[in-house]
Formats: sequence, structure tokens, C-alpha cells
Amino acid sequence: MAARRISIAGSTGSIGCSAVDVIQHARDTGAGDFEIVALASGSNVERLAEQALLLRPELAVIADETRREELDARLSGSGIKVAAGTSALNEAAAMPCDRFLAAIVGAAGLESTLSAVRAGNDVAIANKESIVCGGQVILSEAQKYGAKVLPVDSEHSAIFQCLGDGRSIELLTITASGGPFRTASLEEMARATPAQAAAHPNWSMGVKNSIDSATLMNKALEFIEASVLFDMPPERIDVVVHPQSIVHGMAHFTDGSVIAQLSTPDMKAPISYALGWPDRIPTTVNRLHLSQLARLDFEEVDEARFPAIRLAREAIALGPGGRVVLNSANEAAFEAFTNGSCGFLDITRSVEDALERFSSGSFASSKCETLEEIAEVGRYGAFLASDWLERARKRAGG
Ligand code: NDP
Ligand code: MG
Repeated sequence: MAARRISIAGSTGSIGCSAVDVIQHARDTGAGDFEIVALASGSNVERLAEQALLLRPELAVIADETRREELDARLSGSGIKVAAGTSALNEAAAMPCDRFLAAIVGAAGLESTLSAVRAGNDVAIANKESIVCGGQVILSEAQKYGAKVLPVDSEHSAIFQCLGDGRSIELLTITASGGPFRTASLEEMARATPAQAAAHPNWSMGVKNSIDSATLMNKALEFIEASVLFDMPPERIDVVVHPQSIVHGMAHFTDGSVIAQLSTPDMKAPISYALGWPDRIPTTVNRLHLSQLARLDFEEVDEARFPAIRLAREAIALGPGGRVVLNSANEAAFEAFTNGSCGFLDITRSVEDALERFSSGSFASSKCETLEEIAEVGRYGAFLASDWLERARKRAGG
């Protein structure tokens, strides 16, 4: 494989750490020649410094400026440059590289991803919220500046691997594990704690992605992500619950053929694919032995308990602002749920209400073509969800 210059934004998170493992393994086994340009994270200065000393990037960036001195101290004498703050993060994203791994969580990752794309850097995109909120801007700027956008999300990586030349596609399927509450009753879900919601049966992920998987808002975001990345209308995207998380995505062709991608549930597989593409990088991912798998199950999403996919369709129908509101309302409700100020079922209820109020409000026609517009509509969506949650608390006498 040709040498690759890599930058990672969000290196200290679940995806970022898996990417570091992929790179280390490839280096150790002589399978890949990786040079690290920049590593960036939010506030975890200990892990960032550890990673920097291991991978020796040109630059290490901490977004939280109050941690700058500590990073300086930890990297002093190493020869690694240090910077802090959001603008430093955006500048780091623009440093020339072969692949920029966008692994920040939430819409906070959008700006650095755009900065990478505008510098002509190919982006391996894990940060689905930035595609949901600003996908059309990212893709049009990518085209303008000659940058590629390669999916990291396992379902989208699967589809990317199945698409071939992209012609004669009838339908795309993304799979959902169903999360920890796949078989739970509505009453059990109403009482669910953040710890129960974050305990994903198959995947090891950051807290946000895990809780989004429990509500299926993760699949709603991925549904929108698929529609944007593959330019596919919602009626040609299907979600199927597959509790074993072995089949990640499928492309259905006009002749009746279906091509699926399978692997054990480990993000190192799609991360390595996006970092190495068009080459493949050997990884430590557990090998799939089909004869040892008792069975593979597939079932429909129960929309009565999990309204998220319906909300994704509604958000798409509302246009770019609808997608931003779905995401920002969900981010606000996720915060409220994790800090104990709302119940589990309130997450999707508040998103539903936010979409409804947005559709008849003054932002409904926003095209969300600039970062400013996206941020403004995002704040509005977060406000709508928080407002609904506040009123729900009052109704409950809390
Ligand atoms: P984590 O919460 O584990 O990690 C988030 C990363 O983002 C950390 O490095 C964190 O830094 C950094 N970060 C957070 N806020 C900021 C900010 N404002 N500025 C700069 N850096 C910031 O998340 P995951 O790794 O689980 O997920 C990352 C993205 O990938 C998400 O969009 C998620 O939906 C997507 N994804 C994740 C999958 C998974 O298996 N985990 C699967 C598919 C997609 P620090 O910790 O230093 O504060
Ligand atoms: Mg996924």
C-alpha cells in the first residue's frame, strides 16, 4: 500500500482509539506506511498526549483551550507542535493529508470536516451528525475542491463496498441491531436508566452513539446519512433489524441480485477500509466463521416502540432544516437524558415535537447552505426539544 498521511479529529474517542489501533497494527506488521499529520481532541489531554508520543504527529491540537498548558507540558521536548482552540482545530484539518478521519461526536465536527474538504483532503467520515446537518454542503464543497468523502459508519461502509459502479441500484438496506431494548416493553423503556441505555449488546462505542442506538435515533441519523451520501430517495432505503450485527448493509440491484457485506461487529473493519481505500489494510478484527454462527435473524422495526425511522423520513420531507432540527433536538434530548432530567421515551417524543413545530415556524424554509444558517437552525431545534422537555417536567410535577 502506498504511504498515507493521516490526520484524526476526535482521536481520543471510541472511533479515534480504534483508528490508532489500526494504524499501530499496520505499522507493527509492516503492512502499511502511515505518517500522522495531526491529532486533535476535545479535552482529554492525557490520552491525546499518550497518542501523540506513540504516533509522533507533526501537530497535536486540544480544542479546550484551558488544557493547552497541560498538553504543552506533557509534550515538551518531544518536538511535536501543540495548538489549542477551535480555529487551531480547523487549521489542523486543512493541513495537507491523504485522509482526514472525522471522528468528533455531534454537529461540533462539521466545521473541521468542511475545513478539511476545502483544503482538498479526502475525508473518512465517522461523524454522522455532520453529514445529517451539513451533508449537502460537505459534498458540494468536496466536489469543488476535489476531495473524496469515504464512509466509516459500518452500514455505509458496507453499502460503499457493495455498490460496484453504482449503476442499476434499486434499494439500499442498512441493518440495525435493535439495541439493548429490542425486546423490552414500552413500560420497561419508560423506566430505562442512562447506564441501561448505553449498554449496547454488540458494539463498543462512545456514549452518544450507544444511547442513540437504544432509541434507534442512531439508525434515523444513518438513514439520513445514507440518503445524503448515496443520493438516494427515502423510499429506496430500508432498515432491517438484525440482532447479530454481522450483515451491515446491502445493495439491491434491478436484476434481483443483492450484495451484502459481512464482518464481526468491530469498527476497526470499516475504519481500516476508509483509511486504506482503495487498498485493504490487514487488521486484528475477529474473523467470521459462518459455520460457527448458529443463525442470522432479520426482522422489521417496531415503529410503535421505535418511532425514530419515521421521524427520519419526516425530517427528510421537511428539507435541509428538518434534518438539522432532528439532529440538534436529539443532541439536546440526549444531554437531558444522560444528566437525569428526562425519561428515555422523552428523547424521541421531544424530537417529534421539535420537527412538528419547526415545520410551521419561520425557519421552515431555511436552506441551511452555510455554517451560520446550520448553526442557527440547530440552536432552534435544541431550544424546541429543551422547551418540550421542560414542559413535560412541569406536567409531571417535577
Ligand atoms: P466518543 O464520544 O467516544 O468520542 C468523541 C471524540 O470527539 C473525542 O475524541 C472527543 O474528545 C472529541 N470531541 C468532542 N467534542 C469535541 C469538540 N467540540 N471539539 C473537538 N473534539 C471534540 O464518540 P465516538 O468515537 O463513539 O463517535 C465519534 C463519531 O463517530 C460520532 O459522530 C458517532 O456517531 C460516529 N460513529 C461512532 C461509532 C462507534 O462505534 N463509536 C460507529 C459509527 C459512527 P475528548 O474525549 O478529548 O473530549
Ligand atoms: Mg452505524
